[in-house]
Amino acid sequence: APRTGRICRRVAMSSSSESHFDYLVIGGGSGGIASARRAATYGAKVAVVERGALGGTCVNVGCVPKKVMWNAAHITEVLHDAALYQYRGDLESVKLDWGALKTARDNYVTRLNGIYGRNLDNSEVTKLVGTASFDGATAVRVGEKVYTADHVLVAVGGTPTVPEGLEGAEHCITSDGFFELEELPASVAVVGAGYIAVEMAGILNALGAETSLLIRGDLALRSFDDLLSTTLDAEMKRQGMTVVPQTTVASVALDEETGLKTVVSTDGVEVGKFEQVLIATGRRPLTEPLCLDKVGVELDSKGYVVVDDFQATTAPGVYALGDVCGNVELTPMAIAAGRRLADRLFGGMPLAKADYDNVPTVVFSHPTIGTIGLTEAQARDRYGDDDVAVYKSTFVNLWYGPMPIEPADKPKTAMKLVCVGPEEKVVGLHVIGMGADEMLQGFGVAMKMGATKADFDSCVAIHPTAAEEFVTLP
Ligand code: FAD
Ligand code: NDP
Repeated sequence: APRTGRICRRVAMSSSSESHFDYLVIGGGSGGIASARRAATYGAKVAVVERGALGGTCVNVGCVPKKVMWNAAHITEVLHDAALYQYRGDLESVKLDWGALKTARDNYVTRLNGIYGRNLDNSEVTKLVGTASFDGATAVRVGEKVYTADHVLVAVGGTPTVPEGLEGAEHCITSDGFFELEELPASVAVVGAGYIAVEMAGILNALGAETSLLIRGDLALRSFDDLLSTTLDAEMKRQGMTVVPQTTVASVALDEETGLKTVVSTDGVEVGKFEQVLIATGRRPLTEPLCLDKVGVELDSKGYVVVDDFQATTAPGVYALGDVCGNVELTPMAIAAGRRLADRLFGGMPLAKADYDNVPTVVFSHPTIGTIGLTEAQARDRYGDDDVAVYKSTFVNLWYGPMPIEPADKPKTAMKLVCVGPEEKVVGLHVIGMGADEMLQGFGVAMKMGATKADFDSCVAIHPTAAEEFVTLP
């Protein structure tokens, strides 16, 4: 909804023509919808073109259904912990009805699709259904019709990729296929080492699938701070996941009789037979049908749209943001960029632009990871060893305290603050452990305000929590 104080004013930019808009947004996902609705609050005549379900990746095959499945995995873990908290009864027999949860989840997503549609209607944004492509500088074709606009936004997002040359790729699923599964597979090989691989492997493992994570390097999330990647590696193994490093998949063969898929590495080693093979090796921008070359929109070597700090492409009047630009591929980032762009184009704020620095992000692994800013290695590279101070702690969350488990076997929470300069400004904050997801947002605000280690120390701890460790680091 328009914020208080932002008065809707029909500015003198609307054309009377039915097929001309002030702002034509291609893609009804996180960034496109946010930008369209913000522009409409300023009185602009806006249309959104969407070829699929409104809400885009996040709502349909991303954040939302993923978090539902993460929640189910979390409940399973809590049920397991209940026995260790001396609950009596047959807790182990309580099992998730995957099919029923899928139905409830799908219904929830459908409800959200409807809400997004109604929100566009309420904002008086025109919905155009179909696949868009450029037909001229700021002319866009949708089916038989061509629409023109003063400004066109490309917010078409991305789609999963599979490694080139992978034999038997047709026997595998991607994250999109994960959301179509009607039941929990008995065994799964998850191929990849990024957000999606560790999140989906963690969910499947917690829910009871025999799960193997096949990584081509040594560690998953290797671009994250090493405290996070090494702690996650240990935790995934402790939870019974098979982590297979230094393994690049060459082929996946289907045995029609058993339905099992045999995975073989590029070294010729048979990694195993699995009911499902989930490829999570990255995504690519969805630019092909747009004919961007026709209008002079430059792409980089990986096919992402090149934009300046203000989301402007190399073609006048054409802008891009979100996953199609490949810079911080997160829903709130796309939303922020979309709103800032609308503020700039229609809200009289010529300098409005999104800030891509210190974006807090959470990986919904098991346990969760929260990270903001520079890793320790990046800070040392940028500022030199002498200017960097690191504070860290590894401990057992009080949750596990009374459980009859050997202390060494209890899950660990690990935290790190990376500070620079004599004032010890916090430039990196990293945490893995129970509750990391919910503890990060406030620290994000502190870092945006330029907090120092002394600021952290001056804040009185909230006890007993895990987050308090961040303000009591020695
Ligand atoms: P999208 O949301 O992908 O929207 C693009 C829209 O454009 C789509 O609806 C598409 O159908 C439409 N479109 C494409 N081409 C055309 C065309 N030619 N004509 C008309 N319409 C077109 N981010 C988080 O912040 N937190 C999370 O927990 C999280 N989890 C994720 C989990 C998974 C499995 C995945 C895949 C992603 C996750 N993300 C998460 C990332 C997040 O979903 C994306 O960063 C975000 O959706 C990007 O928004 P966007 O507007 O750029 O694109
Ligand atoms: P990522 O880029 O995060 O990870 C993909 C990883 O797969 C790479 O880092 C690479 O790791 C590995 N890889 C790449 N190619 C191959 C190959 N040929 N064979 C084997 N491994 C390969 O992509 P994702 O698809 O996981 O996620 C895309 C983006 O979506 C994320 O970056 C994130 O921005 C967003 N997202 C956010 C979430 C959240 O906020 N919680 C959740 C899910 C997605 P290596 O080089 O180490 O082998």
